[in-house]
Amino acid sequence: AQRTLVLVKPDGVRRNLSGEVLRRIEAKGYTLVALELRTADRELLAGHYAEHEGKPFYEPLVEFMLSGPVLAAVVEGHRVIEGFRSLAGTTDPTTAAPGTIRGDLGRDWGLKVQQNLVHGSDSPESAAREIGLWFPNL
Ligand code: ATP
Repeated sequence: AQRTLVLVKPDGVRRNLSGEVLRRIEAKGYTLVALELRTADRELLAGHYAEHEGKPFYEPLVEFMLSGPVLAAVVEGHRVIEGFRSLAGTTDPTTAAPGTIRGDLGRDWGLKVQQNLVHGSDSPESAAREIGLWFPNL
């Protein structure tokens, strides 16, 4: 089966929504294969967000991701990469569809970076790379 990397970002952990995100993943029928609560460091985030380096939201994004612990999960299931992105909803929580994590639980706080509760890998290549970064022993 396919695997993806899911993060509950610092805003989600701070708002006590980690369990709600995991509940939705499990209710959909996906399986948790690894789970860790931890605060990232700059090196890990530089790898994770390498594609965004140089963009205007990059530095605020890294600072936000350093602002508290993140719940990192490896989730397994048939077409889970697309499936989790569908559960998460689109990047902007204001317009993310109701029924999605971002649509139901997220809002735009008017900050420099979208604090949109979760991350999910966007392709099999990204998933393999990101799982290797967050869970090198898996
Ligand atoms: P993720 O990869 O986190 O699941 P995504 O694929 O919807 O979300 P990306 O385009 O990979 O978003 O951007 C990574 C993160 O950077 C977003 O989740 C968001 O927190 C932030 N971000 C992206 N675009 C913007 C933007 N235009 N303004 C502010 N923040 C942004």
